[in-house]
Amino acid sequence: MQPGNTKIITAMKYFSFTILCLCLSVSLFAQKKGELDYTIAPWFNNKKAAVSLTFDDGIPGQYAVAVPLLDKYGFKGTFFMSVSIVNSQHISWATVNKAALDGHEIANHALTHPHFIKIGLDTIAWESAESTKQMDVLVPSQKMITHAYPFGEGGGNTEKDRAIRKTVAPYFIGARATQNKPYPYNTYDFAKTNDDYYNVNSQMIADSASMANFGKYIDETIAVGGWFCPTYHGIEDGWIITPGKIFAQHLIELEKRKDSVWIAPFKNVIQYHKERNSANLKLISRENRTWKLSLTDTLSNRQNWDQPLTINLNTNGAVIKGISQKRKKLPFKQNGQFFTFNALPGKDNIEVQFAPNAIR
Ligand SMILES: [Zn+2]
Repeated sequence: MQPGNTKIITAMKYFSFTILCLCLSVSLFAQKKGELDYTIAPWFNNKKAAVSLTFDDGIPGQYAVAVPLLDKYGFKGTFFMSVSIVNSQHISWATVNKAALDGHEIANHALTHPHFIKIGLDTIAWESAESTKQMDVLVPSQKMITHAYPFGEGGGNTEKDRAIRKTVAPYFIGARATQNKPYPYNTYDFAKTNDDYYNVNSQMIADSASMANFGKYIDETIAVGGWFCPTYHGIEDGWIITPGKIFAQHLIELEKRKDSVWIAPFKNVIQYHKERNSANLKLISRENRTWKLSLTDTLSNRQNWDQPLTINLNTNGAVIKGISQKRKKLPFKQNGQFFTFNALPGKDNIEVQFAPNAIR
């Protein structure tokens, strides 16, 4: 071996040693700073994908046929209602209220269902504010926090589309567009900017192909861990009609996959996705057999963000006896070293109690 090579090898050894020291100190630091080993599940209850069944306009069959079928399976849908259409279709607001009380989402579809492309931004703002104001009175059991653009206008890529999204954004936490991208599902990272929460892609259920491919759409969504939002109009009656039998078949397809899919209203999926991507779980104190944790996020207007997040906490073998938040007991499940529970992000700390001699 030549002296030059020895020098290089010595230098390499020194270099490797330095890297090793650096890695060790980084990992020690990480351990000290992180303290908790946890993940927040991409979707609620560790499901692989999300599906939101959405219905537009306010057509009688949605309440007469779709709601009872949804209730049969315990699925909750999202009904984007336009006040003037509901009134012209003679749906009673008591029926709408009943659906809201049963956990379905009643959401906004503008007051008069105008073409947003053809009207000024100030009128679009008025449509959003006025319909919200009127619906607060008509459906007092729920606050409307999401929107679907009438005719899907606002979901494109023109300057006007972007201006429409900016105009409705102060009124809602998210908005659904109508099939403006090549695929019918949203991948998990669909929201690269806040604007994307106001341009959620959906699949119109409008023809025999979209009706027949329902199961395939869900499977594709599960494969990418994404979010599928079918848009229905009439169920049995009205316009762009899906026969009740076909709708019932869609629910059977969903039921078959319910272990993999989180079936939830549009607003809950927006809430979960946004909360999860800005949330942070921290250990505040560790006394006797109790850990106090804080689960916070960076979102303002707390009343709009009330969807619990699914936490998977690694306790390194220590056995949890109870978990509570705001003195309310939280159910939990053990899976090996991990304990899974759902908690609400915000100001209320989480208390984790361990069994005696459980903490190592
Ligand atoms: Zn519509």
